Amino acid sequence: MVVVPRFGAGHRVLVTGGAGFVPSHLVDALLARGCTVVAVDNFVTGTKDNVAHLAEHPGFALVEFDVADGLPEHHPALTQRFDAILHMASPASPTDFATLPIEILRVGSQATLHLLDRAHRDGARFILASTSEAYGDPKVHPQPESYWGNVNPVGVRSVYDESKRFAEAATMAYHRHHGVDVGIVRIFNTYGPRMRPDDGRAVPTFITQALRGEPITLHGNGSQTRSICYVNDLVNGILLLLDSIETGPINCGTEDEFSMRELAELIIQLTGSESMITYLPRTADDPEMRRPDLTLARTRLGFAPRVGVEEGLRRTIEHFAQRIGKLSAQRVG
Ligand code: NAD
Repeated sequence: MVVVPRFGAGHRVLVTGGAGFVPSHLVDALLARGCTVVAVDNFVTGTKDNVAHLAEHPGFALVEFDVADGLPEHHPALTQRFDAILHMASPASPTDFATLPIEILRVGSQATLHLLDRAHRDGARFILASTSEAYGDPKVHPQPESYWGNVNPVGVRSVYDESKRFAEAATMAYHRHHGVDVGIVRIFNTYGPRMRPDDGRAVPTFITQALRGEPITLHGNGSQTRSICYVNDLVNGILLLLDSIETGPINCGTEDEFSMRELAELIIQLTGSESMITYLPRTADDPEMRRPDLTLARTRLGFAPRVGVEEGLRRTIEHFAQRIGKLSAQRVG
């Protein structure tokens, strides 16, 4: 039996932050299904390079705009109704929490309200990209969706954690009050091609350091754990949620958990690097452990990550090696 996805050929989908790391892969997957996709991005952390391969695609449009200011409704790509709106825009890396705090708060709050209004008006399904950071530094492990979290509301990470928690509350309010068809995905650490090498997240940082033969910098003693998910698996999870009638929140990620030291050692091994590990002070409110309870994703969505960590890291290392090679060639030339 051929299963036709709920959103496919003939459907119009809006992806905010479409030129970012995860959203650009989502755009690729939606176009591959035959959807017409409009990406709106202000390039605060994303880049046109991530969607440059789609420049001639007849089903794709890229609009430069800050969605915290609403949508430029008269833009020709934005006048027709959308069948689905995926609100993926937000700076998301630890370095952004310090450098873009107000932008993060605005895109989580004002932009979410504007986009929910548009979803209400269009009768569109609305998907919110939330985060495992909604659990803060969790006291329950692994984290099920029923856990309400342990967030410092005034710490440096609070701009991100609390704006996503606000966005979740707003999404549920529009669902309850206006009947908007919504789905919330709580995304756990995801990695893959198109991440920014300097974004402060462990995988791109360690890979870039290993490829350059620089010391690999671990915060604290490197015993803090994370589970990391390859981007294609996450995208599949988001599409399963999009096609479903689930409101969520639903965790998406993998259950393979490692310490940051183990991850650094694996990357040194896979790159064949001679980098040594060095230790830096631990960052404030950095969660000690994080791993999703995926029961809901498995049972409600049929979600199952497929790409193992070695395979995913190999693909990511290949991408970074090409990018670093290009950058050094440009510097020399
Ligand atoms: P990213 O920074 O690569 O992508 C975000 C995109 O949003 C960028 O292109 C950026 O320019 C754009 N953007 C930000 N603010 C905007 C605004 N006001 N108007 C228009 N565009 C704006 O980050 P990512 O890692 O791909 O994350 C994508 C989404 O997934 C984010 O909402 C993030 O919170 C969520 N998420 C990601 C992870 C992860 O591990 N990558 C984990 C949890 C949640």
